[in-house]
Parts: sequence; structure tokens; C-alpha cells
Amino acid sequence: MLRLPSMEKAVQLTGLTQPEIVSFVETLGEPAYRGRQLFGALQHRRQRSFDDITDLPKELRTRLNDIARAATLKVESQYLSDDGTRRYLMKTHDSLPVETVFIPEERRDTICFSSQSGCPLQCTFCLTAQLGLLRSLTAGEIVEQIQIALNDAYGTGVKPPRGTNLVAMGAGEPLLNLDQLLQALRVMADPQGMHIVPNRVTVSTAGVVPRILDLAKTSDRPHLAISLAAPTDELRNELMPINKRWPLDDLLGACKVFEKTLKPNERLTFEYVMLDGVNDSDEQARQLANLLNRYTIKSKVNLIPHNPADPLPYQPSSDERVEQFKNILESKGIHTYVRRPRGRDIFAACGQLAARQTTLTNTNLVGAN
Ligand code: SF4
Repeated sequence: MLRLPSMEKAVQLTGLTQPEIVSFVETLGEPAYRGRQLFGALQHRRQRSFDDITDLPKELRTRLNDIARAATLKVESQYLSDDGTRRYLMKTHDSLPVETVFIPEERRDTICFSSQSGCPLQCTFCLTAQLGLLRSLTAGEIVEQIQIALNDAYGTGVKPPRGTNLVAMGAGEPLLNLDQLLQALRVMADPQGMHIVPNRVTVSTAGVVPRILDLAKTSDRPHLAISLAAPTDELRNELMPINKRWPLDDLLGACKVFEKTLKPNERLTFEYVMLDGVNDSDEQARQLANLLNRYTIKSKVNLIPHNPADPLPYQPSSDERVEQFKNILESKGIHTYVRRPRGRDIFAACGQLAARQTTLTNTNLVGAN
């Protein structure tokens, strides 16, 4: 009978770069080209079982099964929205929930992935906050989410017909797991793997100021989005308690430093969730415009109508209110866009991810693999 090592001891190969996999196979006494073959199978063909990598000798596959893992996440359930959005509820080897959303668009696909299981921050408009932090995900677990979504959408090893954009806007605060996140991005950027370069990746933060400054110093960094949700410290303290630690002045000061690293056609993104009667008045639009204009940061604002989710005490702003808020920002020179919610019917939208499984109809639920 095959004896499998415990997950803690097995090497999780999906989180290793090509040179790291080459070193790993060399420690097994194998030539370097076997490492390149293995990397290509895992990252280019997105194969999730050593047994399927038939271009490797059987003996090596057996050894790999003994000491390493090609896949650790399991899809527990998946849901298909009327608009084509797919939502996956996965489990880690230690049974923690991970959620990923695949959003097809005309010119590209976007995959919204999680950086942590649960989240330690307590944003009051977000369902994930109610889970608390379960644990941060490993680089391999981040990479696997992308592989699973692409394999499901197109088939194992099939090249996606459109470009793939990634957004770290699922569960978790990505900048509290920055090392693993950057390792995952290095793995995915390899042209002999999935070849998703950091320029196609956006990381969204609630405002972890020291890590924003670290990211500013990172070469080949992803784009950055800041979730603001309020134009004043008073309201932001309430909606996003992280603001008590790093208030708006500190946050925008860090954004100003980050701005120096922007490429010519790059802008910093501010996300602003629109909560009916809470942060969406004309006066608050003017306060937000004045705040951003005071710092003169090369930026744009994305207005995100809130996605209602029981038991959160908020409702989305009306379309008219969102439009009026946008007009005020634009009249003060702020580039403003409204983000259309996707996958609301399967609870796949921003702030709705919290491992919920129960309230969907059978037509939305598709077979888990
Ligand atoms: S909005 Fe993001 S940072 Fe805030 S609690 Fe939710 S997952 Fe965490």
C-alpha cells in the first residue's frame, strides 16, 4: 500500500519557482532537465497529479508521490452564475475554506483569489470578516486557485483564449501575507509556466501602511488598489477598524510614496464601496474629492455598489446615488468608474465570500471535482 507523508512534511511543488524545482529534483539525484519538465507539467500544463505526468519515468513519479504534492486544494462545491461567473469553494488539506471567483469578460478573464482563509481585519461591510483569520495561505495554495479555475473553465492544460488578469480581492488581507503572495506571483510569471506577469495582477489592501511601503520597493510588483470606504477618519474607524492603527493621513502618505513607482500609464486605484445612507451623500463625495486632491495622487476611484449579504446591516446605494456621487467626483477632477457587480446570484461578489454554501438553487450548483 502507498504510504503518503503528512502534508506538513511533503514538499508542496506548486509553490516553487522553476529554479527551485530544478534544485529539488537535483537533491533526488535527477538531472536538471527533469526539474524543467516537472515545472512545465505543473505550471504550463496545469497537471495536478504526478501520475498524469507520463513524460516523467514511472519510478520518479512514485518517488514524488512519496515525498511531495502536486495539489493540495480540493474543490468542495462550485457555482455558476447567470452571467457566466464561476465561484469555487475549496478546502485546504487542513479543512479550511478558500474561495475563488472566475469572471469571464469579452477581452480577458479575471480571477479573484484569496490570500488568507478568513481575514483578521474587521471591516463591517464584509462577510469574510466574520470568520476571523483561520490562517494565511501558502504560495502553492494561491497558485492552485488559479490552476483550478483555468482547468475548470478551459480544460487541463488548455491555453486560455484570452489574457488572464488576477485580483487579490477574495478573502484575506493580501499585504498581511506578502511574502507568500510575491512568491506565488514569481511562480506564475514564468514564461514556461502560466506566464501571468505581475502587470496583470492587482492587489487590494485595506491599508497596511508598512507593507505598502515594502511593496513600493519591490521590483516587478503588481498594481495596488486601496479600499477606502470613507472620506473621514471618523467614519473609516467605524467601517474599517484598521484605520485606527493607520489613519487616512498615514495611508495617503504611503500612497504618495507608492506613487513615485507608478509607470507612465499606471494609476493607483481607490476602491469605494457604496453603502446606502452611510457614505454616499453629496457632502461625502466632496470630502472624498478634497481628500484625494489634497494629496494629488495619480489615481482613479472605483465605486463599488455594496453587495448585500445577511447578516450585514447595509444596503447598496441606488443607481442614481452612485451616478450623482460619480458626477461630483468627476466635477472635481477625479477619474471615477463604477464597477458592475458580477455573480451576485451565487454570492460571488466583493464582500460576500464567507464559505457560504447553503442558500443557492440547484441550477447554480455544478458538480464539484
Ligand atoms: S474587506 Fe477585505 S480586508 Fe476587510 S475584512 Fe473583508 S477580506 Fe478582510
